[in-house]
Amino acid sequence: MLALVQDGTPRLVHDYPSPRRAPGEALLRPRLVGLCDTDLQLARGYLGFRGVLGHEVVADVLEADDPTWVGRRVVTDINAGCGACADCLDAAGHHCAARSVLGILGRDGALAERFVMPERTLRRVPEQLTDEHAVFAEPLAAALHVLDELPTVSRAPCLVIGDGKLGLLTALALHAAGCPVTLIGHHRSKLDRIAALGIQTDLEQDFAPREKYAFVVEATGSEAGLASALAVTAPRGTLVLKTTTHGSITVDLAPLVIHEIRLVGSRCGDVNEALTWLAQIDPRPLIDARYPLARADQALEHAARRGTLKVLVSADA
Ligand SMILES: [Zn+2]
Ligand SMILES: [Zn+2]
Repeated sequence: MLALVQDGTPRLVHDYPSPRRAPGEALLRPRLVGLCDTDLQLARGYLGFRGVLGHEVVADVLEADDPTWVGRRVVTDINAGCGACADCLDAAGHHCAARSVLGILGRDGALAERFVMPERTLRRVPEQLTDEHAVFAEPLAAALHVLDELPTVSRAPCLVIGDGKLGLLTALALHAAGCPVTLIGHHRSKLDRIAALGIQTDLEQDFAPREKYAFVVEATGSEAGLASALAVTAPRGTLVLKTTTHGSITVDLAPLVIHEIRLVGSRCGDVNEALTWLAQIDPRPLIDARYPLARADQALEHAARRGTLKVLVSADA
């Protein structure tokens, strides 16, 4: 089958072996796949991943043990835990030590004609959501996950740093949840895409806040992001880190201690929750381009160009 494979450098492979469905797994045909910065990092060697790329996907179920899945349009939690450990039984298996992750860790992804995932990770897409909405379920879930770190009664002003895809989605999520949110970044063109929706935006170089923020999300994707985020987090505030960088970071943590700042890492969220929010969050202003699977290599190159937001790859030609 046709697949976009990372085997040192990402390339289109025409005779990649079709996946075999293990018991409990569903065989899926992608409808639409989104590219994100994680894919770009994996393409550059992050995590040493080898295999088919692609983890943000809306797909049709072709085969499953449970016949009620067959023919359904679904999205998937990308984490495939062992299904038996405490983390898998109590939570979603996002921290299962034996997990594989679709297109990221030990499991072929969705930039191919077929892929497989455990049936328990699948979530049915409501009919009223378009594929263009549903393909955002996974990244929006990651964005919504920052809401889990918000102090419950707080509607204090929030700051999101970084105008990449995840930063924009996070600002959309906080805005939809009723939080007064400011988004800062380096690209006026990107900021303008969501400024129109009533979200406060500012260029980072012009940003001079009168007060520090009690809730800050760092989504710059850059090594310098943590230090600048620390500088604008209020005493006893919360700083949520969304950036994973390939290299290691050197940062002065004294402000964290002095100002008693709570620093939290945040990765994947609940895709079911994201499907619900997608009824009121429209992520389509983030879409920049759409390519067929046969040109998925060019899609990846496009996604890597400066200033690009979401690039999609569709199953149809
Ligand atoms: Zn992603
Ligand atoms: Zn497990």
